Amino acid sequence: MAIAVYPGSFDPVTLGHFDIIERSARIMDKVIVGVLNNSAKSPMFSVEERVGMLIDVTKHLSNVEIRSFEGLTVDFVRECGASVIVRGLRAVTDFEYELQLSQTNRVIAPEVDTIFLTTNLKYSYLSSSIVKEIAAYGGDISAFVHPEIAEKVHAKAVRIDK
Ligand code: ADP
Repeated sequence: MAIAVYPGSFDPVTLGHFDIIERSARIMDKVIVGVLNNSAKSPMFSVEERVGMLIDVTKHLSNVEIRSFEGLTVDFVRECGASVIVRGLRAVTDFEYELQLSQTNRVIAPEVDTIFLTTNLKYSYLSSSIVKEIAAYGGDISAFVHPEIAEKVHAKAVRIDK
């Protein structure tokens, strides 16, 4: 069985992330979305909230599972019994970092391969940070995230224009 892990912060999950999840679920037998619990970052949403939001938007995808993890991605990949990491590539700016990450992972875990899906052009500019920034100014984020996610972001966003 071909199992892939799609790791990330997902703070919150955007339509760009969702597109990568849907497409990788079509290619792989099973996709485990790994939500990174990184104490060094101060996310808008707790790891439990981020997992909950991902479960909500992927409930119709029967071969997608959502889990949280701490520590090295490759350790989590092994724990999942997976051999593939999926990452999304938006622009050249992602490339250098992603290349370094995948090559490092390959040295510490040679049995694990990283595959890259290029972003849907519609979402090539989209990031969780941009969504949070627009929400902070009270802007409309409905083109970037699912409606139930938009509600949660607006509820958390500290308005900075007033
Ligand atoms: P990280 O902190 O690991 O970068 P993110 O949640 O920001 O976590 O992103 C997780 C993965 O999803 C990364 O591979 C990133 O390149 C990819 N990604 C983020 N936004 C998009 C998008 N709009 N289109 C395609 N891939 C994306």
